[in-house]
Amino acid sequence: MNHWMVRVLALGGLLLCGWVRAQETWTPLFDGTTQKGWANTPFAGAGEIEVRDGTLVLNQGILTGVNWTNDFPTVDYELSLEAQRVLGIDFFCGLTFPVGTNHLSLIVGGWGGSVVGLSNIDGDSANQNSTTHLERFESGRWYALKLRVVSTNITVWLDGKQIIDLDTREKRLALREGEIERSKPLGIAAWSTTAALRQIRWRSLVAPQVPARTQAVLPPETRAAMDRLVSAMSASREGWDRLAELCDTFGARPSASPALESAVDWILERMRRDGLENVHGEPVVVPRWERGSESVEMLSPRRERLPMLGLGGSVGTPPGGITAPVSVVTNFAELAQRAAEVRGRIVVFNVPFTEYGETVRFRSQGAIEAAKAGAVASLIRSVADDALRTPHTGAMRYEDGVARIPHAALAPEDAERIAREVARGRPVTLRLEMSAAERGRATNRNIIAEIRGREKPDEVVVLGGHIDSWDVGQGAQDDGGGCVAAWEALRWMKKLGLQPRRTVRCVLWTQEEWGGRGAQGYREAHSAELGRHVIAMEADAGTFTPKGFGFTGSDAARAMLAPVHAYLGERLGAGMADSRGVAADIAPLLERGVPVMSLHVDRARYFRIHHTEADTVDKVDPEALARCSAAMAAMVYAIADLPEPLPR
Ligand SMILES: [Zn+2]
Repeated sequence: MNHWMVRVLALGGLLLCGWVRAQETWTPLFDGTTQKGWANTPFAGAGEIEVRDGTLVLNQGILTGVNWTNDFPTVDYELSLEAQRVLGIDFFCGLTFPVGTNHLSLIVGGWGGSVVGLSNIDGDSANQNSTTHLERFESGRWYALKLRVVSTNITVWLDGKQIIDLDTREKRLALREGEIERSKPLGIAAWSTTAALRQIRWRSLVAPQVPARTQAVLPPETRAAMDRLVSAMSASREGWDRLAELCDTFGARPSASPALESAVDWILERMRRDGLENVHGEPVVVPRWERGSESVEMLSPRRERLPMLGLGGSVGTPPGGITAPVSVVTNFAELAQRAAEVRGRIVVFNVPFTEYGETVRFRSQGAIEAAKAGAVASLIRSVADDALRTPHTGAMRYEDGVARIPHAALAPEDAERIAREVARGRPVTLRLEMSAAERGRATNRNIIAEIRGREKPDEVVVLGGHIDSWDVGQGAQDDGGGCVAAWEALRWMKKLGLQPRRTVRCVLWTQEEWGGRGAQGYREAHSAELGRHVIAMEADAGTFTPKGFGFTGSDAARAMLAPVHAYLGERLGAGMADSRGVAADIAPLLERGVPVMSLHVDRARYFRIHHTEADTVDKVDPEALARCSAAMAAMVYAIADLPEPLPR
């Protein structure tokens, strides 16, 4: 044990144990024999409520429910329960709960049986917002639900698996209007369904107050190494020079392209020259999608070619293109309602950007929903929060059994203009021509490089980004910068002669943008050692000014990381810590129990250039990149140098 561990256990013991104790104290809200504490909610047409065999039963009515009649917190709590659908096909748990001064409902099994989500987020109900999750529920089976409400996030687990993690800042939270408002502040209801409930309990997440001197602190030797990394790296421009050379030499790096493979060779060669260890590529077979030639021409009310980009994975049009009148919609519900009108037309989704996860649904699922309504092609307003008449590409998908129609992106300005013309009563006709297609397979490589650990080389701390990009621009912010930031962390450890206890491994995943086979391939190739992966970190949100890190893992680990976050706050102004640790390439590792972490940056200018021709290296600020890299290096060094691995 070194100083850090001793201090965490001795001086910091109060903090850590107090925290854990608060975490472990669950208070039952249902005693299993009486309805004590729960009043019948005065819904019109409610079914009967009874306590039977240790369960609270809400018998089928229209809306049937109970309200908690005692005190309950409004934030920093967890609530868990088990729920079962006994009879019926709609939601068997509509849990209404407080979030600060607002309320939300967690709907489980709604909209015909399978929808889980939160109502309402920014005015959208649980079946059509970023929290929407589908699950096939069996009648007569118990499902364990856990809800966590903290000031920045709402997180939901179903049978131990996290299914919702919503950053609630800048979100409008409100109940759906109507009867459900009677469930405030805390209530559980079922819709046209008999539901059974048990094990209803809650706990506070507020740690007991402890004096400041008992906070865990970084051991001096770890801190000294972190200081050297931060001082040297935050003043260096070498990372930016490398990124610029990579971008200018190879251009865009789409998966399955020769440019990507040449870039990978170049990086491997440089990493070996840097003196990094175990440098190699790991092959991954990927499908090849090619954009080919493409265009959108407006034929009426005025003839004009519009800037556009096909979406990754889209089919092409027949030769000569598709010419059809346009229907403009702003959401999926409107599309379904207007299916009779939409048939045979090109759908334009004119959806303004709210938040990436929310708006990107029209890119990923738009072709499926448009085809279901009978459309012959679909176009989206690019997923962008700022418009310079630049179309943005990105991944899309099809669904088995639904017609595959071409799907492409317009610049936000043109989607708006088409909507204005239609609103004026001037029909808009477009001709869409695309030769996009999937053409066979190719072998790509994930890149691996290491600094072997001085004491526990078999225990691994992973950090990286994805080396592939879209086929436009240079993939500088997405995600060349993240790759170089991770690479620089290892290069500087080597250069400064710093070797932490555990192995630090840089992984540059391939094919993140269109399928994630690099991430799957890494998990398969390293499945035997995932138990010894201490953490996996990814930087894939751009390399703007760093703000901090999100972490998804145990509360005990979170408590141990607190001094590192505090250090990064002092040294780099990057002390932000939240629970949003997941990113695309590390999500498969999280599924296997590896704690994960993501670099958070100031994204104010990210979605202006994301997935466009304008994602070029001049958009990366050398100082911001250096600071991202320094923050990652310090965080990774601290974790790799812990006396004991981060608890899972
Ligand atoms: Zn990316």
